[in-house]
Amino acid sequence: MKVTILGSGTAVPSLTRSSSGILLQDEGVNTLFDFGYGTLRQLLNCGIDYHQIHRIFFTHNHPDHICDLIPFLFGSRYYNEPRTENLEIVAGPGFEDFFKQMINVFGSWLQPTEYAIKIITQDESEKSYGSLRVLSKKVKHIAMSRGYRVTNSKGATLAISGDTDYCQAMVELGQNVDLMILECAFPNDMKCPGHLTPDLASQLAREAGCKRLCLTHFYPPCDLEQIRTQFKFDGELFLAEDLMKFTL
Ligand SMILES: [Zn+2]
Ligand SMILES: [Zn+2]
Repeated sequence: MKVTILGSGTAVPSLTRSSSGILLQDEGVNTLFDFGYGTLRQLLNCGIDYHQIHRIFFTHNHPDHICDLIPFLFGSRYYNEPRTENLEIVAGPGFEDFFKQMINVFGSWLQPTEYAIKIITQDESEKSYGSLRVLSKKVKHIAMSRGYRVTNSKGATLAISGDTDYCQAMVELGQNVDLMILECAFPNDMKCPGHLTPDLASQLAREAGCKRLCLTHFYPPCDLEQIRTQFKFDGELFLAEDLMKFTL
């Protein structure tokens, strides 16, 4: 499987970091995890447009994880070239109601014309989606928040936290994975409830025993050099940048 960081940023607009989004490519299927602002353009930089996304998973519905769904759905109606392939959206409980309200706010402008959207609620369970098995667990951020562990048919494993504080569920999702993509939102001295710091992220990564760790979702006070030198982790450590790629 190939993994691309589409957005390594946060709620704070940035010229160098789009908000959260990850592209997973496996056996010809393009799967998104979150769709924050700026990530639709980063998909275009990867040569992928609104016809070529097969399935979208959301970790939660904060705007920095979801906003580009709106231009994606609007563009998918473009009458000269409408999207025709059905779309699946997977998220935790509460998402379907949120999605219906969001669509309704725009009247008919986000409604599919030539395809259908299926919302799948997945909660604390494992499901198969084509070549991927996906386990979701509730993580510590907001009620809807779910982290994911993805396994492909060759046994490669990826864990994605979305936004989370330290929690046992994320340690379990990241157990011995080939790559864990973990948020690290604030420096140690600016700890914010519902988010990780370098100290807590290193504890979580060590307990999970992940092979490679990619930290992401850095709020502006984060000093990346400081994070790298303070981080206590034996595996390979990456600090995310937009369009960083991994092969698992
Ligand atoms: Zn966020
Ligand atoms: Zn959030």
